[in-house]
Amino acid sequence: MDSTSTQPLVSIGPLARAEDLSALPDSLSSSTLTEWQSLLKKYDVPGPRYTSYPTILHWSDDPTLPEWLQSVSDSLDAAEAEKTGAAIYVHIPFCRSLCTYCGCNSRITQNTQVGGRYVKTVLQEWELYCDALQRQNPIPLTELHLGGGTPTYLSAEELRELITGILANVVRTPDAEFSIESDPRVTTYEQLAVLSELGFRRLSLGIQDFDPRVQRAVNRIQSEEQVRQTTESARERGFTSINYDLIYGLPFQTQQSIRQTVDAVKRLRPERIAFYAYAHVPWVKPGQRHFTEVDLPTGDEKRALYDFGREILLEAGYREIGMDHFALPEDSLWEATLNKTLHRNFMGYTSRYVAPLIGLGVSSISDSGTAFAQNEKDLEIYSERVNRGEIPIFRGHKLSEQDRILRRHVLNLMTRFETEWSEPAFHVPFLNSVSKRLVEPLADNLVNLGDERCEVTEKGRAFLRNICMAFDSHLRADAPGKQLFSRTI
Ligand code: SF4
Repeated sequence: MDSTSTQPLVSIGPLARAEDLSALPDSLSSSTLTEWQSLLKKYDVPGPRYTSYPTILHWSDDPTLPEWLQSVSDSLDAAEAEKTGAAIYVHIPFCRSLCTYCGCNSRITQNTQVGGRYVKTVLQEWELYCDALQRQNPIPLTELHLGGGTPTYLSAEELRELITGILANVVRTPDAEFSIESDPRVTTYEQLAVLSELGFRRLSLGIQDFDPRVQRAVNRIQSEEQVRQTTESARERGFTSINYDLIYGLPFQTQQSIRQTVDAVKRLRPERIAFYAYAHVPWVKPGQRHFTEVDLPTGDEKRALYDFGREILLEAGYREIGMDHFALPEDSLWEATLNKTLHRNFMGYTSRYVAPLIGLGVSSISDSGTAFAQNEKDLEIYSERVNRGEIPIFRGHKLSEQDRILRRHVLNLMTRFETEWSEPAFHVPFLNSVSKRLVEPLADNLVNLGDERCEVTEKGRAFLRNICMAFDSHLRADAPGKQLFSRTI
């Protein structure tokens, strides 16, 4: 890796096609509007979402299994010494039908037998970890998150078996938080009751959009009534923080459909909202070829949908967090923003950084703080390896000293919109050339730059991914013209 070169990275500039401009905010004067449109076109390029640094496509230095286990062990030692704890993420890949926008590792099936077998495999994997780590004391657990796929594909009893099996080898820290993603179409009162009994207080519901035409296009039909029932059932069962996932940039979305969706969201008043940009990567996710690309809002039209939804949410009392999340002022995500403990990982924005994060289940990603590791992505290979008694990691990345420091800066920008490197502990030679890579964003008033400091302006927030790209020492390794990432706008 070259740490000092001042050559430009991959372009954070060239542009896209002319768009239908009808969806842009009414409040902008025509000259400001034109300037804004040209900025959005200029910076609408393929780029990472920075849910990790280095981004997964740039992992190159795989840890061996002993190295990986040692890094987890070291991280657990530190967690115990600091009286924090570990996080566990469990991936449940099953879904009943394919949403055509899906970017997750999912397995579409109607077979209800697969859940029970899978739970046993995940518990076997957890046992392999516990045996290999040989801790003297039970592992302190501060976060448990079930994601997917659809975790509520599992029956209430399968969820109980999975969770109690994991908890058998840990001790919960006093501030432990348990959360689960769920699909309102397949979530029952019984499942919520079991989860609540076992300590789950956070529920994240996939909503995306309430407009019937959009729902048909993405093959995800669910009514506001279904979502209301799941939300109310969860609250009755003691869940205190409900998150809704929304997506902008889906086929046929308009300002009107966004208004309809956000108005429904306001009525149900979840504590948190993730308002993600649709990531169009059909070369990775062929399911995304089920709709026609001309029906997708892109560039300035797409960004206008976010800005429109954002305005309604801010008026409704939500606070904007990072580049695509919102929370009520009393929610811990907003507190974390004020206290500067906000973190960003594969699950989006979270209120704190917890290491190690141990990922269980097919395709799960783990983070020890000094290394990443990912499990096998193919369900059959994952299961076979676990059944053979192997911890099923298949790739990862050992963070170099430079990676660790640049990761800190990317995270600072993603969570606080500013970063600085005046102290030696936060400096690497690569940073000497940041200003050269930010010449255009500086000229476009997207950043303020000091000698050893970068601050994202209000206007620059829409271009956060582009700005982070200037701090990414791995990007130059990409073959020119090779499309790896979704577009930044
Ligand atoms: S429910 Fe989620 S994981 Fe499953 S197909 Fe739909 S978007 Fe993908």
